[in-house]
Amino acid sequence: MALITTENITKSFNGSQTVLRDVSLELRAGEVLALLGKSGSGKSTLLRTLAGLVEPSSGRVTYRGRAIHGANPGVGMVFQNFALLPWLTVLENVELGLRARGLPSQERRRRAVEAIDLIGLDGFENAYPKELSGGMRQRVGFARALVLEPDALLMDEPFSALDVLTAENLRGELMSLWTSARFPTKAICLVTHNIEEAVAMADRIVVLADNPGRIALELSVPLTRPRVRRAPAFTTIVD
Ligand code: ADP
Ligand code: MG
Repeated sequence: MALITTENITKSFNGSQTVLRDVSLELRAGEVLALLGKSGSGKSTLLRTLAGLVEPSSGRVTYRGRAIHGANPGVGMVFQNFALLPWLTVLENVELGLRARGLPSQERRRRAVEAIDLIGLDGFENAYPKELSGGMRQRVGFARALVLEPDALLMDEPFSALDVLTAENLRGELMSLWTSARFPTKAICLVTHNIEEAVAMADRIVVLADNPGRIALELSVPLTRPRVRRAPAFTTIVD
């Protein structure tokens, strides 16, 4: 079942360089999809298009069968550089995304605390980003995305700013959360230039060719590790 699709999208910036050309892609409920490609191949642009942060020059993006215009309501995003607000505490950073939803402040706080706990940052609610290690800052990044309980978690090179061991730990923890009942999302889309990371985490890998930014290859990853599949609680598409 497709959660988010791109249908024949192209993207050129300022009418010049074509970054994506005729890309049709599905992010399906229950899967971890990796978008793999060299630097400059258009991975971030494609991910941002799925999130509705970049508008395609042609073609369309759908979420649960409906075309999106503007931000995709079904996604939470995690960025390479964490993108935390330094003047806010961990709790405030995580809560921020919920403000737009008009939840009462007690409810926002309860959900933020829950997301912080889920990602292993219990006790750091009142810390500021500068007091945290890189790995912990990225945990805040995850909490901020997961607190939205989005259908899809979109991650743009989320581990590449971390040292090797920290990255490996966080990857492992994320994958065990993914297979647990506590994890709120139904699909993950991971952008990476790291083949090993893609193979270790993804069920399916889509390789982007640079110049002219099209899908070069699509492959399923053989099950090399025990993987507990949650049955995604996916409701039917309403149209
Ligand atoms: P990747 O994430 O695979 O490194 P990007 O999607 O960031 O690739 O970029 C693909 C190409 O699009 C690059 O050549 C980049 O310079 C260009 N690009 C990305 N965003 C913009 C933008 N906002 N304006 C102009 N060019 C851009
Ligand atoms: Mg990128």
